[in-house]
Amino acid sequence: MPSMPERPWALVTGSSRGIGRAVAMSLAKEGFPVIVHCRSQIEKAIEVQRSIEEAGGRARVTAFDVRDHEATRKAIEALEPERCFIGVVVNNAGITADAPFPSMQREEWESVIATTLHGFFNVTQPLIMPMIRHRWGRIVNITSVSGLIGNRGQINYAAAKAGLIGATKALAIELAKRQITVNAVAPGPIDTDMLRGAFEKGTPPEKVLEAIPMRRIGTPEEVAALVTFLCSDAASFITGQVIGVNGGMA
Ligand code: NDP
Repeated sequence: MPSMPERPWALVTGSSRGIGRAVAMSLAKEGFPVIVHCRSQIEKAIEVQRSIEEAGGRARVTAFDVRDHEATRKAIEALEPERCFIGVVVNNAGITADAPFPSMQREEWESVIATTLHGFFNVTQPLIMPMIRHRWGRIVNITSVSGLIGNRGQINYAAAKAGLIGATKALAIELAKRQITVNAVAPGPIDTDMLRGAFEKGTPPEKVLEAIPMRRIGTPEEVAALVTFLCSDAASFITGQVIGVNGGMA
C-alpha cells in the first residue's frame, strides 16, 4: 500500500449486483473504502453501500454508463481522484447480447464491445495519472472463459472479453515500472442475474453443467476472493496475468 494517511479507494464498476457486489463487499472487508457503481439500479447500489457501512466499512455510490465517454469523465472528476486517491479499479461492468452469428444485430455487437472495451478505456484512463504519481495501483479486469476458449452464440462477448485480455497484458507492461499491477480474472458460469437471464432465454442448465469439469456453477464470492487477493500487497509481483475461476473449464 502507498504510504499515505488514508487507504486508497477502490472503484468497482457494476457493483450494484452479482460479481461486482461481492467484490465490493470483499474489498471493504479488507479495509478499502469502496465506490459502489451502477448504470441505472441506484437503489441496489445504495443497498450495497449500506451493507458495507453496517459491517463497519466506508462506501460511496456513483452511477454512470461506462459506454459514454463524457458522462464517465464527468462522474470520475466528481469523485475527485486527485484528492481522494482511487488506487484500485475493478472493471467488472458487463453485459451479454447472445445470438447466432448469422442473425446477430449490429446493436448486439456494438453494445457488448462498447460496454467491455470502451468501458475499460473510459473508466481506467482518467485514473492512471494519480496512480503513477502515487507509484501504486491495482487494476483488475473481469473477462470470461468465453474470451479464452470461445462460446457458441457469443461472438460479440468472446471478442470483447478476448480484447480485454489483450489490453490487460499491454497495460501491465506499460505500468510495471510504476508498481501498478494489471490483471484479468476469467470466471466461468457464476450464479448471478446474467447467468439466470441466459437460462431464462433458453440456454439449458444441464448443457452448462456438462461443460464444467466440477459440474457446478460458481459463486460471486469465489470470484471476489481472487480479485481481493490481486488487490493486496501480497500480490504485488503478479501482473499481466489471466486467472480463471471456472471449475476447470480452461
Ligand atoms: P450482472 O448482470 O449481475 O450485473 C451487471 C452489472 O454491470 C450491474 O451492476 C450493472 O448495473 C452493470 N452494468 C451493465 N452495463 C453497464 C453500463 N453500460 N454502464 C455501467 N454499468 C453497467 O453481471 P455479473 O455479475 O454476472 O457479471 C459481472 C462481470 O462478470 C461482467 O463483466 C461479466 O461479463 C463477467 N462474467 C460473468 C459471468 C457469469 O456467469 N455471471 C461469467 C464470466 C464473466 P445496473 O445494476 O445499474 O444495471
